[in-house]
Amino acid sequence: MLCLRVTLRRGEAVPPGYAEIVTTIRTDRGYAGELDAADQLAGFRDRFVRDDESLIYLDGNSLGPLPIATQSRIAEVVREEWGAGLVRSWAGWIELPRRAGDLIGQHLVGAAPGQVAVCDSTTINLYKLASAALDARPGRSVIVTDDDNFPTDRYVLAGIAAQRGCELRMIRTGMNDGVSEDALRAAVDERTAVVSLSHVAYRSGALADMAQITGIAHDAGALMLWDLCHSVGAVPVELDAAGADLAVGCTYKYVNAGPGAPAFLYVRSELQDSMRQPVWGWFGQRDQFAMGPGYDPAPGIERFLTGTPQIIGIAAVQEGARLLGEAGMGRLRAKGVALTELLIGLADEWLAPHGFTVASPRDSARRGAHVTLHHRDAWQLSQALIKAGIVGDYRTPDRLRLGPAPICTRFTDVWDALDALRRIAGDRSYAGLAAERGRVI
Ligand SMILES: *Cc1c(COP(=O)(O)O)cnc(C)c1O
Repeated sequence: MLCLRVTLRRGEAVPPGYAEIVTTIRTDRGYAGELDAADQLAGFRDRFVRDDESLIYLDGNSLGPLPIATQSRIAEVVREEWGAGLVRSWAGWIELPRRAGDLIGQHLVGAAPGQVAVCDSTTINLYKLASAALDARPGRSVIVTDDDNFPTDRYVLAGIAAQRGCELRMIRTGMNDGVSEDALRAAVDERTAVVSLSHVAYRSGALADMAQITGIAHDAGALMLWDLCHSVGAVPVELDAAGADLAVGCTYKYVNAGPGAPAFLYVRSELQDSMRQPVWGWFGQRDQFAMGPGYDPAPGIERFLTGTPQIIGIAAVQEGARLLGEAGMGRLRAKGVALTELLIGLADEWLAPHGFTVASPRDSARRGAHVTLHHRDAWQLSQALIKAGIVGDYRTPDRLRLGPAPICTRFTDVWDALDALRRIAGDRSYAGLAAERGRVI
Protein backbone atom coordinates (compact mmCIF):
# COMPACT_ATOMS: atom_id res chain seq x y z
CA MET A 1 0.00 0.00 0.00
CA LEU A 2 1.29 3.43 -0.94
CA CYS A 3 0.57 6.35 1.29
CA LEU A 4 0.48 9.77 -0.28
CA ARG A 5 -0.31 13.00 1.40
CA VAL A 6 -2.43 15.26 -0.72
CA THR A 7 -2.31 18.99 -0.25
CA LEU A 8 -5.08 20.93 -1.87
CA ARG A 9 -4.60 24.60 -2.62
CA ARG A 10 -5.07 26.98 0.25
CA GLY A 11 -8.75 27.63 0.87
CA GLU A 12 -9.76 24.76 -1.39
CA ALA A 13 -12.31 22.55 0.30
CA VAL A 14 -12.36 18.80 -0.21
CA PRO A 15 -16.01 18.01 -0.88
CA PRO A 16 -17.68 15.36 1.27
CA GLY A 17 -16.88 11.85 0.12
CA TYR A 18 -13.50 12.79 -1.32
CA ALA A 19 -11.41 13.23 1.82
CA GLU A 20 -10.60 9.56 2.17
CA ILE A 21 -10.10 8.82 -1.50
CA VAL A 22 -7.34 11.35 -1.96
CA THR A 23 -5.23 10.42 1.02
CA THR A 24 -3.93 6.93 0.29
CA ILE A 25 -3.60 4.75 -2.77
CA ARG A 26 -3.27 1.02 -3.39
CA THR A 27 -2.00 -0.52 -6.59
CA ASP A 28 -4.61 -3.22 -7.17
CA ARG A 29 -7.33 -2.72 -9.79
CA GLY A 30 -10.02 -3.27 -7.18
CA TYR A 31 -8.87 -0.10 -5.50
CA ALA A 32 -9.39 1.91 -8.70
CA GLY A 33 -12.84 0.32 -8.91
CA GLU A 34 -13.60 1.46 -5.36
CA LEU A 35 -12.65 5.01 -6.30
CA ASP A 36 -14.99 4.86 -9.30
CA ALA A 37 -17.80 3.58 -7.09
CA ALA A 38 -17.28 6.51 -4.69
CA ASP A 39 -16.91 9.08 -7.48
CA GLN A 40 -19.63 11.72 -7.27
CA LEU A 41 -18.93 12.75 -10.85
CA ALA A 42 -19.09 9.24 -12.31
CA GLY A 43 -22.42 9.93 -14.03
CA PHE A 44 -20.94 12.71 -16.16
CA ARG A 45 -19.13 10.15 -18.29
CA ASP A 46 -22.50 9.28 -19.84
CA ARG A 47 -23.00 12.87 -20.89
CA PHE A 48 -20.37 12.42 -23.61
CA VAL A 49 -20.50 10.63 -26.94
CA ARG A 50 -18.67 7.30 -26.70
CA ASP A 51 -18.16 5.57 -29.98
CA ASP A 52 -15.77 2.88 -28.84
CA GLU A 53 -16.29 1.47 -25.35
CA SER A 54 -12.79 0.09 -25.22
CA LEU A 55 -11.01 3.37 -26.03
CA ILE A 56 -9.22 5.01 -23.09
CA TYR A 57 -8.92 8.70 -23.81
CA LEU A 58 -6.29 10.57 -21.84
CA ASP A 59 -5.95 13.56 -24.11
CA GLY A 60 -8.82 15.74 -22.94
CA ASN A 61 -6.20 18.42 -22.34
CA SER A 62 -5.59 18.60 -26.08
CA LEU A 63 -9.04 18.02 -27.55
CA GLY A 64 -11.93 17.40 -25.17
CA PRO A 65 -14.61 14.82 -26.04
CA LEU A 66 -18.01 15.69 -27.53
CA PRO A 67 -20.83 16.30 -25.02
CA ILE A 68 -24.14 14.78 -26.11
CA ALA A 69 -25.94 18.05 -25.34
CA THR A 70 -23.60 19.88 -27.70
CA GLN A 71 -24.47 17.59 -30.56
CA SER A 72 -28.17 18.37 -30.31
CA ARG A 73 -27.63 22.06 -29.54
CA ILE A 74 -25.50 22.50 -32.64
CA ALA A 75 -28.09 20.68 -34.74
CA GLU A 76 -30.73 23.03 -33.35
CA VAL A 77 -28.69 26.18 -33.98
CA VAL A 78 -28.04 25.06 -37.53
CA ARG A 79 -31.60 23.97 -38.30
CA GLU A 80 -33.67 26.50 -36.37
CA GLU A 81 -31.57 29.59 -35.86
CA TRP A 82 -29.69 29.55 -39.14
CA GLY A 83 -31.99 27.46 -41.35
CA ALA A 84 -35.31 28.91 -40.28
CA GLY A 85 -34.41 32.19 -38.60
CA LEU A 86 -31.85 33.34 -41.16
CA VAL A 87 -30.57 36.87 -40.67
CA ARG A 88 -33.32 37.58 -38.13
CA SER A 89 -31.43 35.41 -35.66
CA TRP A 90 -28.74 38.05 -35.34
CA ALA A 91 -30.97 39.83 -32.82
CA GLY A 92 -30.02 37.10 -30.36
CA TRP A 93 -26.64 36.13 -31.77
CA ILE A 94 -25.21 39.61 -31.33
CA GLU A 95 -25.19 39.12 -27.55
CA LEU A 96 -23.53 35.71 -27.64
CA PRO A 97 -19.83 36.63 -27.23
CA ARG A 98 -20.70 38.39 -23.99
CA ARG A 99 -23.32 35.92 -22.75
CA ALA A 100 -21.00 32.96 -23.28
CA GLY A 101 -18.20 34.98 -21.68
CA ASP A 102 -20.30 35.56 -18.57
CA LEU A 103 -20.99 31.83 -18.35
CA ILE A 104 -17.25 31.11 -18.40
CA GLY A 105 -16.70 33.91 -15.89
CA GLN A 106 -19.31 32.53 -13.53
CA HIS A 107 -18.52 28.81 -13.66
CA LEU A 108 -14.87 28.57 -14.60
CA VAL A 109 -12.64 31.59 -14.10
CA GLY A 110 -14.02 33.58 -11.17
CA ALA A 111 -14.95 36.71 -13.09
CA ALA A 112 -17.96 38.94 -12.38
CA PRO A 113 -20.19 39.64 -15.42
CA GLY A 114 -19.04 41.93 -18.20
CA GLN A 115 -15.35 41.02 -18.12
CA VAL A 116 -15.13 37.97 -20.39
CA ALA A 117 -15.92 37.69 -24.10
CA VAL A 118 -15.82 34.62 -26.33
CA CYS A 119 -14.15 35.46 -29.63
CA ASP A 120 -11.31 34.69 -32.04
CA SER A 121 -8.55 32.23 -31.13
CA THR A 122 -6.23 32.23 -28.13
CA THR A 123 -3.37 33.28 -30.39
CA ILE A 124 -5.26 36.31 -31.69
CA ASN A 125 -6.59 37.25 -28.26
CA LEU A 126 -3.08 37.12 -26.85
CA TYR A 127 -1.90 39.43 -29.61
CA LYS A 128 -4.75 41.85 -28.91
CA LEU A 129 -4.30 41.96 -25.16
CA ALA A 130 -0.48 42.02 -25.07
CA SER A 131 -0.51 44.89 -27.58
CA ALA A 132 -3.18 46.72 -25.58
CA ALA A 133 -1.14 46.22 -22.40
CA LEU A 134 1.96 47.79 -23.97
CA ASP A 135 -0.10 50.78 -25.08
CA ALA A 136 -1.52 51.09 -21.57
CA ARG A 137 1.99 51.41 -20.08
CA PRO A 138 3.60 54.18 -22.13
CA GLY A 139 7.31 54.61 -21.47
CA ARG A 140 7.73 50.91 -20.67
CA SER A 141 9.00 48.61 -23.38
CA VAL A 142 9.75 45.22 -21.85
CA ILE A 143 7.55 42.12 -22.15
CA VAL A 144 8.36 39.28 -19.75
CA THR A 145 7.51 35.63 -20.36
CA ASP A 146 9.26 32.29 -19.83
CA ASP A 147 11.27 30.12 -22.18
CA ASP A 148 9.05 27.07 -21.66
CA ASN A 149 5.80 28.91 -22.31
CA PHE A 150 3.55 27.47 -25.03
CA PRO A 151 5.04 28.14 -28.49
CA THR A 152 2.24 30.36 -29.79
CA ASP A 153 2.63 32.59 -26.73
CA ARG A 154 6.39 32.95 -27.23
CA TYR A 155 6.01 33.56 -30.96
CA VAL A 156 3.23 36.13 -30.63
CA LEU A 157 5.12 38.04 -27.95
CA ALA A 158 8.32 37.90 -30.01
CA GLY A 159 6.37 39.22 -33.01
CA ILE A 160 4.96 42.13 -31.01
CA ALA A 161 8.43 42.91 -29.66
CA ALA A 162 9.90 42.88 -33.18
CA GLN A 163 7.10 45.02 -34.58
CA ARG A 164 7.42 47.66 -31.89
CA GLY A 165 11.13 47.55 -31.10
CA CYS A 166 10.45 46.24 -27.59
CA GLU A 167 12.50 43.82 -25.55
CA LEU A 168 11.15 40.31 -24.92
CA ARG A 169 12.71 39.09 -21.70
CA MET A 170 12.60 35.32 -21.17
CA ILE A 171 12.76 33.82 -17.71
CA ARG A 172 14.43 30.41 -17.67
CA THR A 173 12.00 27.73 -16.55
CA GLY A 174 12.74 24.12 -15.68
CA MET A 175 10.76 21.85 -17.99
CA ASN A 176 9.32 19.91 -15.06
CA ASP A 177 8.78 22.63 -12.49
CA GLY A 178 6.97 25.65 -13.92
CA VAL A 179 7.84 29.29 -13.49
CA SER A 180 9.98 30.25 -10.50
CA GLU A 181 8.64 33.21 -8.57
CA ASP A 182 12.17 34.30 -7.65
CA ALA A 183 13.21 34.27 -11.30
CA LEU A 184 10.21 36.42 -12.15
CA ARG A 185 10.98 38.84 -9.32
CA ALA A 186 14.51 39.21 -10.70
CA ALA A 187 13.24 39.75 -14.26
CA VAL A 188 10.73 42.57 -13.75
CA ASP A 189 11.63 46.21 -13.29
CA GLU A 190 10.38 49.75 -13.96
CA ARG A 191 10.65 49.14 -17.71
CA THR A 192 8.31 46.11 -17.67
CA ALA A 193 4.96 46.80 -19.30
CA VAL A 194 3.44 43.33 -19.20
CA VAL A 195 4.15 39.88 -17.79
CA SER A 196 2.56 37.03 -19.75
CA LEU A 197 2.60 33.49 -18.39
CA SER A 198 0.62 30.26 -18.55
CA HIS A 199 -1.31 29.36 -15.42
CA VAL A 200 -0.77 25.62 -16.01
CA ALA A 201 2.32 24.72 -18.04
CA TYR A 202 1.35 22.77 -21.16
CA ARG A 203 4.27 20.36 -20.93
CA SER A 204 4.64 19.52 -17.22
CA GLY A 205 1.26 20.56 -15.88
CA ALA A 206 2.97 22.81 -13.31
CA LEU A 207 0.40 25.14 -11.74
CA ALA A 208 1.44 28.72 -10.99
CA ASP A 209 0.28 30.62 -7.91
CA MET A 210 -1.83 33.18 -9.72
CA ALA A 211 -2.28 35.67 -6.87
CA GLN A 212 1.37 35.66 -5.89
CA ILE A 213 2.73 36.03 -9.42
CA THR A 214 0.19 38.71 -10.25
CA GLY A 215 1.42 40.54 -7.15
CA ILE A 216 5.03 40.37 -8.36
CA ALA A 217 4.03 41.89 -11.71
CA HIS A 218 2.02 44.60 -9.99
CA ASP A 219 4.85 45.48 -7.59
CA ALA A 220 6.90 46.34 -10.66
CA GLY A 221 4.02 48.43 -12.07
CA ALA A 222 3.38 45.95 -14.89
CA LEU A 223 0.13 44.43 -16.11
CA MET A 224 -0.39 40.67 -15.74
CA LEU A 225 -1.69 38.62 -18.68
CA TRP A 226 -2.54 34.97 -17.98
CA ASP A 227 -2.95 32.16 -20.47
CA LEU A 228 -5.54 29.77 -19.05
CA CYS A 229 -5.62 27.18 -21.87
CA HIS A 230 -4.50 24.29 -19.67
CA SER A 231 -6.27 25.45 -16.51
CA VAL A 232 -9.78 26.49 -17.55
CA GLY A 233 -12.10 23.63 -16.64
CA ALA A 234 -9.22 21.70 -15.03
CA VAL A 235 -8.44 23.73 -11.90
CA PRO A 236 -10.39 26.47 -10.15
CA VAL A 237 -9.37 29.91 -11.45
CA GLU A 238 -10.20 33.09 -9.54
CA LEU A 239 -9.22 35.98 -11.80
CA ASP A 240 -11.05 38.71 -9.88
CA ALA A 241 -9.82 37.53 -6.48
CA ALA A 242 -6.23 37.19 -7.70
CA GLY A 243 -6.27 40.77 -9.02
CA ALA A 244 -5.41 39.58 -12.53
CA ASP A 245 -5.57 42.23 -15.24
CA LEU A 246 -5.89 40.26 -18.45
CA ALA A 247 -6.35 36.65 -19.50
CA VAL A 248 -6.92 34.48 -22.54
CA GLY A 249 -7.84 30.82 -22.89
CA CYS A 250 -9.14 28.24 -25.30
CA THR A 251 -12.31 26.18 -25.12
CA TYR A 252 -11.48 23.01 -27.03
CA LYS A 253 -9.40 21.41 -24.26
CA TYR A 254 -11.11 20.89 -20.89
CA VAL A 255 -14.16 22.99 -21.90
CA ASN A 256 -14.99 20.40 -24.59
CA ALA A 257 -16.28 22.86 -27.18
CA GLY A 258 -14.70 21.18 -30.21
CA PRO A 259 -11.80 21.68 -32.60
CA GLY A 260 -11.25 25.34 -33.41
CA ALA A 261 -14.03 26.53 -31.09
CA PRO A 262 -13.67 30.22 -30.29
CA ALA A 263 -11.43 31.23 -27.40
CA PHE A 264 -12.12 33.79 -24.67
CA LEU A 265 -10.49 36.86 -23.22
CA TYR A 266 -10.79 38.60 -19.87
CA VAL A 267 -10.14 42.26 -19.13
CA ARG A 268 -10.62 43.48 -15.57
CA SER A 269 -13.51 45.95 -15.60
CA GLU A 270 -11.58 48.97 -14.26
CA LEU A 271 -9.10 48.68 -17.11
CA GLN A 272 -11.52 48.25 -19.98
CA ASP A 273 -12.30 51.80 -20.95
CA SER A 274 -8.67 52.93 -20.81
CA MET A 275 -7.43 50.09 -23.02
CA ARG A 276 -7.47 49.78 -26.79
CA GLN A 277 -6.72 46.72 -28.80
CA PRO A 278 -4.94 46.85 -32.15
CA VAL A 279 -7.56 45.19 -34.39
CA TRP A 280 -10.07 47.93 -35.04
CA GLY A 281 -12.95 45.80 -36.28
CA TRP A 282 -16.60 46.71 -36.56
CA PHE A 283 -17.73 44.35 -33.78
CA GLY A 284 -15.65 46.42 -31.35
CA GLN A 285 -17.28 49.63 -32.51
CA ARG A 286 -19.77 51.70 -30.52
CA ASP A 287 -23.14 51.66 -32.32
CA GLN A 288 -21.82 49.19 -34.87
CA PHE A 289 -24.71 49.41 -37.31
CA ALA A 290 -24.52 53.19 -37.61
CA MET A 291 -21.72 52.32 -40.07
CA GLY A 292 -19.97 55.56 -39.05
CA PRO A 293 -16.87 57.05 -40.66
CA GLY A 294 -14.31 56.37 -37.92
CA TYR A 295 -13.47 53.81 -35.27
CA ASP A 296 -14.83 54.65 -31.84
CA PRO A 297 -14.46 51.67 -29.51
CA ALA A 298 -17.53 50.41 -27.65
CA PRO A 299 -17.56 50.79 -23.88
CA GLY A 300 -16.86 47.65 -21.87
CA ILE A 301 -15.64 44.22 -22.91
CA GLU A 302 -17.16 44.50 -26.42
CA ARG A 303 -14.32 46.76 -27.56
CA PHE A 304 -12.08 43.69 -27.50
CA LEU A 305 -14.14 41.97 -30.20
CA THR A 306 -13.03 42.15 -33.83
CA GLY A 307 -15.29 40.73 -36.55
CA THR A 308 -18.33 38.48 -36.90
CA PRO A 309 -18.41 35.91 -34.10
CA GLN A 310 -18.56 32.16 -34.80
CA ILE A 311 -22.09 31.48 -33.67
CA ILE A 312 -22.05 27.68 -33.97
CA GLY A 313 -18.78 27.46 -32.08
CA ILE A 314 -20.04 29.75 -29.32
CA ALA A 315 -23.09 27.52 -28.83
CA ALA A 316 -20.68 24.65 -28.18
CA VAL A 317 -18.74 26.80 -25.70
CA GLN A 318 -21.96 27.50 -23.79
CA GLU A 319 -22.81 23.82 -23.56
CA GLY A 320 -19.30 22.92 -22.45
CA ALA A 321 -19.22 25.61 -19.77
CA ARG A 322 -22.68 24.63 -18.50
CA LEU A 323 -21.69 20.99 -18.16
CA LEU A 324 -18.57 21.86 -16.16
CA GLY A 325 -20.62 24.29 -14.09
CA GLU A 326 -23.06 21.51 -13.27
CA ALA A 327 -20.20 19.26 -12.13
CA GLY A 328 -18.69 22.16 -10.17
CA MET A 329 -15.05 23.21 -10.24
CA GLY A 330 -14.54 22.19 -6.60
CA ARG A 331 -15.52 18.60 -7.31
CA LEU A 332 -13.66 18.56 -10.62
CA ARG A 333 -10.50 19.76 -8.89
CA ALA A 334 -10.80 17.18 -6.11
CA LYS A 335 -11.22 14.41 -8.67
CA GLY A 336 -8.38 15.79 -10.82
CA VAL A 337 -6.07 15.65 -7.81
CA ALA A 338 -7.15 12.10 -6.99
CA LEU A 339 -6.72 10.91 -10.61
CA THR A 340 -3.25 12.40 -10.96
CA GLU A 341 -2.19 11.11 -7.52
CA LEU A 342 -3.21 7.61 -8.61
CA LEU A 343 -1.38 8.05 -11.90
CA ILE A 344 1.84 9.21 -10.20
CA GLY A 345 1.62 6.52 -7.53
CA LEU A 346 1.29 3.77 -10.15
CA ALA A 347 4.04 5.30 -12.30
CA ASP A 348 6.42 5.28 -9.32
CA GLU A 349 5.56 1.71 -8.50
CA TRP A 350 5.40 0.16 -11.97
CA LEU A 351 7.13 2.39 -14.49
CA ALA A 352 10.20 3.70 -12.72
CA PRO A 353 11.97 0.32 -13.15
CA HIS A 354 11.41 0.68 -16.93
CA GLY A 355 13.17 4.02 -17.24
CA PHE A 356 10.28 6.43 -16.65
CA THR A 357 10.46 9.44 -14.36
CA VAL A 358 7.64 11.73 -13.35
CA ALA A 359 8.16 15.07 -15.11
CA SER A 360 5.36 16.95 -13.34
CA PRO A 361 5.27 18.52 -9.86
CA ARG A 362 4.64 15.92 -7.16
CA ASP A 363 2.92 18.40 -4.90
CA SER A 364 -0.69 18.35 -6.05
CA ALA A 365 -1.08 21.99 -5.02
CA ARG A 366 1.46 22.84 -7.74
CA ARG A 367 -0.01 20.60 -10.43
CA GLY A 368 -2.89 20.94 -12.90
CA ALA A 369 -4.94 18.02 -14.21
CA HIS A 370 -2.37 16.29 -16.41
CA VAL A 371 0.81 14.34 -15.69
CA THR A 372 3.88 14.07 -17.87
CA LEU A 373 6.25 11.12 -17.82
CA HIS A 374 9.78 11.33 -19.07
CA HIS A 375 11.22 8.39 -21.04
CA ARG A 376 13.98 8.25 -23.65
CA ASP A 377 11.64 6.47 -26.09
CA ALA A 378 8.55 8.53 -25.29
CA TRP A 379 7.54 8.96 -28.94
CA GLN A 380 7.49 5.22 -29.70
CA LEU A 381 5.81 4.45 -26.39
CA SER A 382 3.04 6.94 -27.12
CA GLN A 383 2.50 5.35 -30.56
CA ALA A 384 2.38 1.87 -29.03
CA LEU A 385 -0.17 3.08 -26.49
CA ILE A 386 -2.39 4.47 -29.26
CA LYS A 387 -2.22 1.10 -31.03
CA ALA A 388 -3.36 -0.48 -27.77
CA GLY A 389 -6.42 1.82 -27.69
CA ILE A 390 -5.05 4.31 -25.18
CA VAL A 391 -4.72 7.88 -26.40
CA GLY A 392 -2.39 10.26 -24.62
CA ASP A 393 0.15 12.40 -26.42
CA TYR A 394 3.83 12.94 -26.96
CA ARG A 395 5.57 16.21 -26.23
CA THR A 396 9.09 17.12 -27.22
CA PRO A 397 11.77 16.25 -26.42
CA ASP A 398 11.05 12.97 -24.62
CA ARG A 399 7.77 13.17 -22.78
CA LEU A 400 4.52 11.26 -22.65
CA ARG A 401 1.64 13.45 -21.53
CA LEU A 402 -1.44 11.88 -19.91
CA GLY A 403 -4.47 14.07 -19.30
CA PRO A 404 -7.28 12.24 -17.47
CA ALA A 405 -10.00 14.92 -17.78
CA PRO A 406 -11.83 14.78 -14.44
CA ILE A 407 -15.32 15.13 -15.91
CA CYS A 408 -15.25 11.91 -17.93
CA THR A 409 -12.29 9.75 -16.90
CA ARG A 410 -12.57 6.77 -14.57
CA PHE A 411 -9.95 5.75 -12.06
CA THR A 412 -9.95 2.34 -13.73
CA ASP A 413 -9.09 4.07 -17.03
CA VAL A 414 -5.94 5.44 -15.39
CA TRP A 415 -5.18 2.02 -13.88
CA ASP A 416 -5.69 0.22 -17.21
CA ALA A 417 -3.57 2.77 -19.10
CA LEU A 418 -0.66 2.48 -16.69
CA ASP A 419 -0.98 -1.29 -16.66
CA ALA A 420 -0.77 -1.33 -20.48
CA LEU A 421 2.17 1.02 -20.37
CA ARG A 422 4.14 -1.19 -17.98
CA ARG A 423 3.45 -4.16 -20.23
CA ILE A 424 4.51 -2.31 -23.41
CA ALA A 425 7.64 -0.94 -21.72
CA GLY A 426 8.43 -4.32 -20.19
CA ASP A 427 8.25 -6.44 -23.35
CA ARG A 428 9.78 -3.62 -25.47
CA SER A 429 7.14 -4.25 -28.15
CA TYR A 430 7.27 -0.53 -28.91
CA ALA A 431 10.89 -0.77 -30.09
CA GLY A 432 9.89 -1.88 -33.60
CA LEU A 433 7.83 1.29 -34.21
CA ALA A 434 9.24 4.16 -36.28
CA ALA A 435 11.38 6.48 -34.20
CA GLU A 436 10.52 9.42 -36.47
CA ARG A 437 8.05 11.84 -34.92
CA GLY A 438 4.76 12.33 -36.83
CA ARG A 439 3.15 15.64 -37.71
CA VAL A 440 0.67 15.94 -34.80
CA ILE A 441 0.56 13.45 -31.92
C1 LIG B 1 -3.56 25.07 -26.57
C2 LIG B 1 -2.84 26.34 -26.20
C3 LIG B 1 -2.87 27.45 -27.06
C4 LIG B 1 -3.53 27.35 -28.41
O1 LIG B 1 -3.75 28.54 -29.06
P1 LIG B 1 -4.69 28.53 -30.36
O2 LIG B 1 -4.71 29.91 -30.82
O3 LIG B 1 -6.03 28.00 -29.93
O4 LIG B 1 -4.10 27.58 -31.34
C5 LIG B 1 -2.24 28.61 -26.63
N1 LIG B 1 -1.61 28.67 -25.43
C6 LIG B 1 -1.56 27.60 -24.60
C7 LIG B 1 -0.89 27.71 -23.28
C8 LIG B 1 -2.16 26.40 -24.97
O5 LIG B 1 -2.10 25.35 -24.16
